[in-house]
Amino acid sequence: MPELLSTEDSQSIHSHSCDVAIVGGGVVGTTLAAALGKSGLSVTIIEAQTLEGAAARERGYALSPLSGQILDGIGVWERIFPYIGKYHDIYLSDADCPRLVKFHPQDLGIEFLGYVGEHRIMLRALQDFINTECETVQWLCSARLNQVTYQSEGATLDLEVEGKPQQVRSRLVVGADGPQSYIRQTAGIKTWGWKYWQSCLTFMITHTASRNDIAFERFWPDGPMGVLPLAGNRYHIVWTAPHAEAKALQRLNEDEFLAELEYYTSGFLGKLTLTSDRHVFPVQLLQSRQYVRPRVALVGDAAHRCHPVAGQGLNLGIRDAAALAQVLTKAHARGQDLGDLAVLKRYERWRKVENLAILGFTDFLDRIFSNRWWPIVKIRRFGLWLLRNVPLLKVLALKFMTGFWGRRPTLSRTKTAKPAVSGGLR
Ligand SMILES: Cc1cc2nc3c(=O)[nH]c(=O)nc-3n(C[C@H](O)[C@H](O)[C@H](O)COP(=O)(O)OP(=O)(O)OC[C@H]3O[C@@H](n4cnc5c(N)ncnc54)[C@H](O)[C@@H]3O)c2cc1C
Repeated sequence: MPELLSTEDSQSIHSHSCDVAIVGGGVVGTTLAAALGKSGLSVTIIEAQTLEGAAARERGYALSPLSGQILDGIGVWERIFPYIGKYHDIYLSDADCPRLVKFHPQDLGIEFLGYVGEHRIMLRALQDFINTECETVQWLCSARLNQVTYQSEGATLDLEVEGKPQQVRSRLVVGADGPQSYIRQTAGIKTWGWKYWQSCLTFMITHTASRNDIAFERFWPDGPMGVLPLAGNRYHIVWTAPHAEAKALQRLNEDEFLAELEYYTSGFLGKLTLTSDRHVFPVQLLQSRQYVRPRVALVGDAAHRCHPVAGQGLNLGIRDAAALAQVLTKAHARGQDLGDLAVLKRYERWRKVENLAILGFTDFLDRIFSNRWWPIVKIRRFGLWLLRNVPLLKVLALKFMTGFWGRRPTLSRTKTAKPAVSGGLR
């Protein structure tokens, strides 16, 4: 396989070769491409939508400090940091029990406990970074993937791009194509997991509260509610409830809905205005039995999905992307075959168990808090008492939630630039 992009016309099918074909240009796929931007490898991103279409999703993500460090190591953080929400404190509470567990940045000796990035801001910044800084990365957008065939020395992807047939030959195919991953299915990789009894209702509001730098995770018996600060006195809310209730909340008229929200947030956000549509997503846990096969690797939601409690999903995907980029860059420097199973297994060994631990943790949190049985209520209230009163436990919990545990990718330790501090959040 040639190292650099070559384009040829054979029998009217436009075709080219690359080292890595990434299927899926969401935040995880583009993070991987950007992380490979200076590796010397040629990369093609194959995305089903246009660049604008892929970035148009109305969603905010709680981002861990480790994700911020990885994006900083890539060099794209300074394009994201000024435009996103930042939180100093996290307040955790059990329904209307007045005792809060308060996490502060000084518990870990860092400036912020996390950030809240809107999908469109993150993806546009990554797309712009790739377009301006990554010469060996190219896009195939509005692409329909018809077939992938794997040979011993590479893979061939048959596509239709804007109605025209195209062929991409690649040494490695990365599935970054989300939870229904075509790449996972065609590689014959099985998954395990379950659907929850809950759905998530997500939306954005403006508020009149004096502070906009606290993230709240409030556990109600029907499901957790995450209240995440966005830049400009706005909050992104992820409200988990049984399927029928989530649908009913979505259908409520705006005044009734905001009255309900004020009750569930105890009025601490002041006067609320709804600024987005309300979206409902069924919640699912999914883990792929393998993350790699010869010539194939899975990253992000193509490999795993977890309950949105504690806002971990995308953070795991960003860590997958950084880990895979590190493994591939090293293999390339040593002259090894990128699609070789022995190389790809290094990535799987690194990420599969760490992701499983988070999947288990989010499942445990949801089950223990979405529960009215009094012995469980007593146990979890005791757990919250421990978190409030045993500093070491608090630090350990915080390290787990913020990503500072497990093996850290080299990119998270490579500081590229001091991000400009945005105005008006504190
Ligand atoms: C309600 C809710 C709230 C959440 N909140 C948080 C949070 O606070 N923090 C957090 O970290 N995570 C959160 N998550 C999880 C997060 O949304 C996902 O983990 C993340 O979006 C996964 O990114 P991805 O790039 O792997 O997949 P996706 O975002 O699904 O991107 C996949 C891309 O692949 C493209 N694609 C799909 N199929 C093909 C194909 N055949 N050919 C070419 N392209 C294709 C799609 O168009 C898309 O652009 C939440 C999830 C939900 C449902």
